[in-house]
Amino acid sequence: MKKITRVALVGGTHGNELSGIYLLKKWDNTNRYAHWPELQLSSTLANPRACEHSVRYLESDLNREFGTEDLLDDDRVGYEQLLAKKLARQFGPKGRSPVELMIDLHNTTSNMGACLMLLRKDAFNVGMAAYVKDRMPQAVIFFQDNLPEERKRFLVSVAQQGVTVEVGPQPNSVLQQETFELMETMTCHILDYLTQYNTGELACLPDSFEAFQYTEDLRLPTDAQGRRLGMVSKRLEQRDFFPVAPGEVIMETFEGTPICWEGDYTAYPLFINEAAYHQSHSAMTMSQRIVVHCADYF
Ligand SMILES: [Zn+2]
Repeated sequence: MKKITRVALVGGTHGNELSGIYLLKKWDNTNRYAHWPELQLSSTLANPRACEHSVRYLESDLNREFGTEDLLDDDRVGYEQLLAKKLARQFGPKGRSPVELMIDLHNTTSNMGACLMLLRKDAFNVGMAAYVKDRMPQAVIFFQDNLPEERKRFLVSVAQQGVTVEVGPQPNSVLQQETFELMETMTCHILDYLTQYNTGELACLPDSFEAFQYTEDLRLPTDAQGRRLGMVSKRLEQRDFFPVAPGEVIMETFEGTPICWEGDYTAYPLFINEAAYHQSHSAMTMSQRIVVHCADYF
């Protein structure tokens, strides 16, 4: 088993998500990194100008600019597009990165709690999820390994392995202590896990754990001009990761017509009414509850 020691901690990929930005400032000032002497930890503020202005981005969403072809496209010269190329040189090149793990720290305005978002379902990621969930039972494990390849344009995709710590609810440009502490706790557990992973001693992991698996994204109803015709039902407000059965109301038009969940499975929505998805008219992401058996992966 290959050890994982070169670890990049990243905050400020979105400049108005303050927990990660301030967590790294705190750890820089207190040299918290010394707690994991066997790891080579770096900390990076991914989009300093967006952080300075406390906006998600200046021109385009940095965390969607890391598609392999986009990074090679010389015509992509927007601010975040060029910044993505710079970061890909710093951490990459994508596909041959020396960074063994990148941990990207995000906030959401949705009520997702402390959510660990994973792009692969291999022994390393499953072990991490089991370790974190065991020590932090309120953590939510979200697998998005089944996202279509063209959607995996995240900054973490540059590194060999990448995970996103997504904590909410927290309004943009606001720093709340509870959210901050959840992010700090989860990040510490991830780094502690690496220590155990590198010694090859994962014996004390639980046999199985609860997780959620990405299924699809739902948009708000819009007219031909792209104007919204409705909103998320109040029944779902703040209820990320609560079950929604087929036929249940999930949105409502301004005329009062209910829009029901048309899937044939009980869905567990997340990113409900996330502020950053204003432009895309995304209403929520759907997932299914799964039970992951560690023995299937080790
Ligand atoms: Zn973010």
